[in-house]
Amino acid sequence: MDPQTSQRPIYLDGHATTPIDPQVLDAMLPYLREQFGNPSSQSHCYGWEAAAAVKHARQVLADAIHADPEEIIFTSGATEANNLAIKGVAEAYLQRGRHIVTVKTEHRAVLEPCRYLERLGFEVTYLAVRPDGLVDLQDLAQTLRSDTVLVSIMAANSEIGVLQPLAEIGALCRSHNVLFHTDAAQGIGKIPLDVRAMSVDLMSLTAHKFYGPKGVGALYIRRRSPRVQLAPQMHGGEQERGFRSGTLPTHQIVGFAKAVELGLAEQPQEGDRLRQLRDRLYVRLQTLDGIHLNGHPTQRLPGSLNVSIEGVDGAALLLGLRSQIAVSSGSACASGDAKPSHVLVALGRDRKLASASLRFGIGRFNTLEEIEIAASETIAVVRSLT
Ligand SMILES: *Cc1c(COP(=O)(O)O)cnc(C)c1O
Repeated sequence: MDPQTSQRPIYLDGHATTPIDPQVLDAMLPYLREQFGNPSSQSHCYGWEAAAAVKHARQVLADAIHADPEEIIFTSGATEANNLAIKGVAEAYLQRGRHIVTVKTEHRAVLEPCRYLERLGFEVTYLAVRPDGLVDLQDLAQTLRSDTVLVSIMAANSEIGVLQPLAEIGALCRSHNVLFHTDAAQGIGKIPLDVRAMSVDLMSLTAHKFYGPKGVGALYIRRRSPRVQLAPQMHGGEQERGFRSGTLPTHQIVGFAKAVELGLAEQPQEGDRLRQLRDRLYVRLQTLDGIHLNGHPTQRLPGSLNVSIEGVDGAALLLGLRSQIAVSSGSACASGDAKPSHVLVALGRDRKLASASLRFGIGRFNTLEEIEIAASETIAVVRSLT
């Protein structure tokens, strides 16, 4: 089935998740049918076939971020990878210190493990960002202390798409002998990631934000200079070199790797196409009065557009739009409650403007025609509300 049939609203919520690419699904199916073996089974061909598929996928992922295959640990997604990285480092480096630095605009899958650690007696600094959403490197340098063990700063923001300067942050952390973790859930498959050039020690990945299946992700864990220590958070059969026990979901892992391959193959042309669609949408929306772009104008994911609109209520806006286009207001995770997005508040937006926001995530299956419809619909609904 086509991921977007004509009767359904146009899907423009790519930061929340993306439709699975049909080629990804095709790659996965044999591993749900005949090649169903447990990759840990070493006594028969069912196990060998599954193990070979996992090995290939691990290589694809490693190549995509310039890592070695032994540095890739499969997880259930980026939430688990973030928990393993942050809690795992905190526990393993207790002797070195108890101070962690992160940023106010991080995903809750980073903020909540940090809050959990605070309850256990760790100290966490939540850095403010500039009005454009970027981290100030001087501010970051000033927070680093002799007992700082970890800095966790995301690659691409899940609400405003802003891209943090990973290489500069990595160099700074390296020069202070502090480990650097980055949540690259929104980056993988869309922007270049290079753990060597960016001096990244731990990187969280997930498949479902770039046309792969939900329920699979990975954590990159550096093995040399420095070799990162990590306390496992899941104990059991010692899969994944003891870092993450549990039977590997071969079909999910195969789909993850296929999605990465497709993402790399279409770059950078697809990035240019998405950027054009995004810019077209923004140009059209600017015919409205009181429209504000949230986040840096160019240092942003190509398909990402987040705007606040003066004088309208975000919830009313979504209600008016939802039969035509699927978008979100603020954070998808936070949109169940009435609180304005913590990311937009951190940019310095007042509560009203933070609540009156729309997040568009344009992706592989969107067309120019859909973008024109989305623009017209949004303009019409805003005008009907003001
Ligand atoms: C989606 C997302 C997550 C959570 O990933 P899951 O694989 O759904 O657990 C974490 N961080 C960021 C930045 C995300 O966009």
